Amino acid sequence: MRQTWLSGIAPVFLRRASLVVVLGAFAGVIVSSSQGAVVNDKQVAFGPGNPFYAKSTLPFEAPPFDKIKDGDYEPAIEAGMAEELKEIGAIADNSAAPTFENTVVAMEKTGSLFQRAMAAFSGVTGANTNPELERVQKELAPKLAAHRDAIYLNTKLFHRVAAVYEQRESLKLSPEGLRLVQVRYRDFVHAGANLSDADKDKLRKLNEEESTLSNGFRSKVLAATKDAAYATTDQAALAGLTAADLSGAEAAAKERKKEGYVLPLQNTTQQPYLSSLSVRATRQAVFDASWTRTERGDANDTRSTIARLAQLRAEKGKLLGHDSYAGWKLEDQMAKTPENALKFMDALVAPSTANAADEAKDIQGVIDSQNNDTQKGGFSVEAWDWEFYSEQVRKAKYDIDEAQVRPYFELNNVLENGVFYAAGQLYGLSFKERKDIPVWNPDVRVFEVFDGDSKPLALFYCDYYKRDNKNGGAWMSNFVDQSKLMGTLPVVYNVANLPKPAAGEPALVSFSDVVTMFHEFGHALHGMLADSEYPSLSGTSVARDFVEFPSQFNEHWATYPAVFAHYAKHYKTGAAMPEDLATKIKKAADFNQGYLLTELLAAAELDMQWHSLPVGDGLQEPDAFEKAALAKKGFALSYVPPRYRSSYFSHIWGGGYAAGYYAYLWSEMLDDDAFQWFQDHGGLTRANGDRFRKMVLSRGNTEDLAKMYEAWLGSAPKVEPMLKYRGLEKGATK
Ligand SMILES: [Zn+2]
Repeated sequence: MRQTWLSGIAPVFLRRASLVVVLGAFAGVIVSSSQGAVVNDKQVAFGPGNPFYAKSTLPFEAPPFDKIKDGDYEPAIEAGMAEELKEIGAIADNSAAPTFENTVVAMEKTGSLFQRAMAAFSGVTGANTNPELERVQKELAPKLAAHRDAIYLNTKLFHRVAAVYEQRESLKLSPEGLRLVQVRYRDFVHAGANLSDADKDKLRKLNEEESTLSNGFRSKVLAATKDAAYATTDQAALAGLTAADLSGAEAAAKERKKEGYVLPLQNTTQQPYLSSLSVRATRQAVFDASWTRTERGDANDTRSTIARLAQLRAEKGKLLGHDSYAGWKLEDQMAKTPENALKFMDALVAPSTANAADEAKDIQGVIDSQNNDTQKGGFSVEAWDWEFYSEQVRKAKYDIDEAQVRPYFELNNVLENGVFYAAGQLYGLSFKERKDIPVWNPDVRVFEVFDGDSKPLALFYCDYYKRDNKNGGAWMSNFVDQSKLMGTLPVVYNVANLPKPAAGEPALVSFSDVVTMFHEFGHALHGMLADSEYPSLSGTSVARDFVEFPSQFNEHWATYPAVFAHYAKHYKTGAAMPEDLATKIKKAADFNQGYLLTELLAAAELDMQWHSLPVGDGLQEPDAFEKAALAKKGFALSYVPPRYRSSYFSHIWGGGYAAGYYAYLWSEMLDDDAFQWFQDHGGLTRANGDRFRKMVLSRGNTEDLAKMYEAWLGSAPKVEPMLKYRGLEKGATK
């Protein structure tokens, strides 16, 4: 099972044998039997009283969150690992000659207890954690990695898989069966199954250390982000915030038992409040709080952690036969090599920075023109000014006032009349809310999804509001994966961090929040429309540089005229958004794209450079490394910091995106290219949707992804639509 993000942190735990992310490690796990586990030297009971003991009897095998207590996860996961190892052991020790059925398919059927406990645990630790769950997470991290290693570094098992792989062409397998054999074999080799015993030991030790450091990194960033929130008792310092923002800041202070106001940080470098704070010193203080959150020399400083992580990953890459960690990581991706990914990214640096420089000129013009009591001109634009003045440029250019826009984007209306509506038009899905399915927090809503009007297809949960005990960003994952072999339908969830309204108030969201909802739902569709035989190939279990394709593709429908008109309605009057405002919003989508692409690219280049380090370069000092890495690629714009600084770049140090952040951009090339195809073939139609569903969305990882894409599109992906949709064609020629 996997998690995918817009910008989340949660670890990716994979079901069964799939291998998109390695949390890798070995720690002396002692697991006695599937009936109990040794935890902290004492036997933790695992029996029929544990809600994970048997398959859920709820519709779609949904997790029984009404019965699950914090203390239930650890014994269930420990017992689940033991049970899976027993099942895997039986496959490895089978005296019959290896066959597709008794080896590769048998592996698909293992680990059901582990899967159901782990899926629920990942869900709550990402979206609704607490100190007890964090403790369990910390203790489990190395054991989970060791568990994975125990499967992938099992020599007997590998030999059986390899034997099936050798005969694969003569076995008369279905195309999906053949793909399963190839993927499984490649996963073993990728994980180190071909290594000598001594090297396997080395790998286990590296994996163990990586997992522990990654987990420590996640805890530190979560704590640092909370601690670094900007606090003040001086209301004048917050000039520019709306009354609603101010009362939110007051509530945040109260929640933390502080006087005055608190502006919580989100996980990106730039902070939402920076667009409205008119006191420059406050903007700088908020920005500094964000930028230095993990570099304060205190317990939450992550610099030594990431320096060591980069070093040990380089060692791991070498051990697995590559020049670098990135070389190893990309071998099973659509891009195939770091060189291909870098070539693609390097070509984007010139158009994106040229456009960002143009945008900076507009901003500087506004700064220079202002010299009054609240705004003093006469300074050069800095990173902490960007959001504030770009908002003014945006207003001047497009005359859009957020306060004017938000009443047309009431969250539940956007969901049902926008997000769900588009899925209905394209794929014929319908949705019915279910109040009888237990949830992990009262804010969560659950919908049953039907194929057409009545054929049950999936269960969909959404947990949209920000909470302090939720990881930042937004993501999607499964509680249950679709599989014909296992007879399961998908149970999928979306999590985000949208502002929660005061009690009784409507949830009015920004247009970028609307886009986030479409994005995460695109992942959800990839999970819900899955139609695979084997769970490991189902839904979103695809390469990192493909997984963001369906989600980013789905974003396009947010501004598609027929969809937009259907949901952008005033929450009080139901009136459609005035035409000129709608036009401006759509035009404004092109705004600031130079900045936005540059900050993403800078982060992606940082990631690729950290993970391209060869062994022997030793420990890097993160700040110096970061500076040099950005300068080397031509990111000389002081006012465009990377979207994530190395020291709080959770995707790459604490999540599954190490040497994989480029994947968002790569996927963007695919999604723009794909949307252009829709535009060229009549746009939002059932015929187009059904064809895309049949050839791509339903197919998970059942075919080589480059081939699958090309078969649907009729050619290899092109980068031109990406520059067009970003509004950057001009800069491309500079
Ligand atoms: Zn995503």
